[in-house]
Amino acid sequence: MRVLLPRLLRRPWTAVLTAVVLLASGFTAVSASGSESGCRVDYTVNKWTDGYTARIRITNLGPAIDGWRLTWTYTGDQRVTSAWNATATQTGGSVVAVPANWNGTLATGGTADFGLQGTWQSADPAPSDFALNGTPCGPDGTPPPTTPPTTPPPTTPPPATDCGSAVICSDFEDQTGPAPSGAWQFTAPDCQGTGTAAVDTEVAHSGSRSLRVDGRAGYCNHAFVASTADLSSVGPVMYVRMWVRHTTALPSAHVTFVSLPDTSQAGRSLRVGGQNGALQWNRESDDATLPAQSPAGVALSRPLPTESWQCLRFAIDTTAPGLDTWLGDELIPGLHADGVPTQDVDQQWLARTTPPRPTALRLGWESYGTGDDTLWFDDVTVGSAPIGC
Ligand code: CA
Repeated sequence: MRVLLPRLLRRPWTAVLTAVVLLASGFTAVSASGSESGCRVDYTVNKWTDGYTARIRITNLGPAIDGWRLTWTYTGDQRVTSAWNATATQTGGSVVAVPANWNGTLATGGTADFGLQGTWQSADPAPSDFALNGTPCGPDGTPPPTTPPTTPPPTTPPPATDCGSAVICSDFEDQTGPAPSGAWQFTAPDCQGTGTAAVDTEVAHSGSRSLRVDGRAGYCNHAFVASTADLSSVGPVMYVRMWVRHTTALPSAHVTFVSLPDTSQAGRSLRVGGQNGALQWNRESDDATLPAQSPAGVALSRPLPTESWQCLRFAIDTTAPGLDTWLGDELIPGLHADGVPTQDVDQQWLARTTPPRPTALRLGWESYGTGDDTLWFDDVTVGSAPIGC
């Protein structure tokens, strides 16, 4: 099985997020390295109340290794609950991570990436005693110049927000009338009711225009505006960014506000919306959700705040099962899928192994029961390269 995460971690966007997280509250990143000891560890943590995820990159500065074992000690009350691209075992504060069956070999200068999810209550200082195969990765020293790190330094600026070369790059300022026109067309994929969509000149994230959708409850109230752009060649990772604003908290019932027709589902849609008050991915063909709608799964997603513009971004891998979702600069742990099933997150999602192949973008509203909302979309981008908020 191919795995998303190592590929995404090598992509500039994700690397830049490592830099960005240094600046945002709730994130910390530490490095431990030593040319004498032969290893470097980059530990980047994203934490919230009671929980965290950590992305860990091992760089081998010594001779090639076939089969690595990384150990460290948590001095707070962190508890690892799951791992991806590695197996992690915790005893007291001591953690041992061993590779999955595809990332155990480390050439000189080579890297291995894996991740953890866990809980904490009162303290969660980053560990400082990483050891690779028993040898400490010391706090001093830097990688040899012949093996530059593949992760840019933390001073790297965030990805450009200018989307000029992207397949979709729309601020809606070229819309001339109240009805979407040109590159954006109203559509009601299955059936149409009282839901409406229009170009709004009162509320905008940029300039003086945005797309407004007045979504109404009930299955036959589909109201979307579809981009006419063909997205079928965007990849291998499709990067989507939009600014979205809405009036009403996501309901407990299932709703959709982004719909991506997907040839891997015979044209049925990959959908972004909400359920149980939090953001959610849904796959139309088998109704799988990401995260699973258990209380633990929902807690790993996030509500979509109301009455303010939110930067929502996706990275959809079209060649391997997996995707990532950011709200602002936060990588949402419950909206992350990779090649390793995680209970309450992507176990159900990965039941279908064919990667998605979205071909188009629709923005709007689709309810399956209850749920009214008014939404605005602006500064929408879809392309093969990461783009910042
Ligand atoms: Ca605008």
